[in-house]
Amino acid sequence: MQVADRAGLTDTGRRRRRNEDSFVLDPPLFAVADGMGGAQAGEVASRLAAAAFKEFHEADGLEPEQRVEALVQEANRRVYERSHEDANATGMGTTVTAALLEGDRVAIGHVGDSRAYRIRGDALEQLTQDHSLVADLMRSGRLTPEEADAHPQRSVITRALGTDPTVDVDTFAVALEAGDVFLLCSDGLTTMVPDEEILRLVHEGGSLERAAKALVKAANKRGGEDNVTVVLFRVDAGGDPPLDETARLAPAGEEGDTDELEDTLTGEEAIPVVTTPPAEPAVREDVAPSRPAPAPPARRRKSRRAFALVAALLFVALLLLVAFWGLANAHFVGAEDDGSVAVYQGLPYDVTESFALYRPRYVSTLHAAQLTQDERAELFDHELMDYGAARDRLARYEDEGVP
Ligand code: CA
Repeated sequence: MQVADRAGLTDTGRRRRRNEDSFVLDPPLFAVADGMGGAQAGEVASRLAAAAFKEFHEADGLEPEQRVEALVQEANRRVYERSHEDANATGMGTTVTAALLEGDRVAIGHVGDSRAYRIRGDALEQLTQDHSLVADLMRSGRLTPEEADAHPQRSVITRALGTDPTVDVDTFAVALEAGDVFLLCSDGLTTMVPDEEILRLVHEGGSLERAAKALVKAANKRGGEDNVTVVLFRVDAGGDPPLDETARLAPAGEEGDTDELEDTLTGEEAIPVVTTPPAEPAVREDVAPSRPAPAPPARRRKSRRAFALVAALLFVALLLLVAFWGLANAHFVGAEDDGSVAVYQGLPYDVTESFALYRPRYVSTLHAAQLTQDERAELFDHELMDYGAARDRLARYEDEGVP
């Protein structure tokens, strides 16, 4: 098999000031890296990892899985060393999802919450498992996929390059069929754009370059909360690239016609997330029952409406009281975006992407990646407690001598 088409694109998105993602488009090697860390450390980490990959040379006698593993370990070593040499880079890390094509298979190496997908015909298959807090909680049955999508700590990863001298890498190989398309991407795509739409945009893109642009554009239309990176490649048995039958969008030989793409992305994709309106529906239901009941006399209707209004106001007041009580007294254990374990005051909910009902009250030196999966499931169950109890709970893990 050979690479018939390929594309890579990264974008800062709409909310972040910096782009901490990097990618490698160096057939037969492809990778994405999503960095994290204060100041510019996230950028440094993902670029160090990408640079290690770009210096890739065919090593003798290694199976592709072993070679991918060796590359990821080398990238890890560089990020780890830098983070210990440079005070500004302390605590930095990066995800890596890499694909190496050899013969009739692709070897995948993976750490973190970037993803690899294979698109074969009308099926999109996620090949990698996220190393993230919410993926852990989902696997242990504590969260549904819907809850995971809305989880305030969905960006916390539990494995990263740069936190330890060696890293536990998921490596495996998948068999190829002619026409298979592979997508490597950072979570800035997958948290914004659902799988069905990713599949549709890749099919409709025609060339992979157009598909990459359409994917980034879709993530930004849905809010662009994070840096977005996509790497795409299509394999083929050799000879001419296969004709893409689903290339409905591509007008005669035009490349990069972004206006055309823009037109296809209006409508339902552009619908913003709407938070649930306050108690109003309860009032409406009461006033206008859907069953064909005989209309009550006007005065009774008025008093019922007034009663419903008062009830709704009381309900809202009660909600506010509970909310304020909760915000003041409730604490739970969670983790910061960089993985530092923390005690939060408030309730573990985001009202919108940028407004949360909690704030960190204590940030530990303990990192989520230093805990086992069981420990994470126990510690991050979001049980509400007072501040002292939350600190005590955390202290048990801090005292175990984890640095
Ligand atoms: Ca990200």
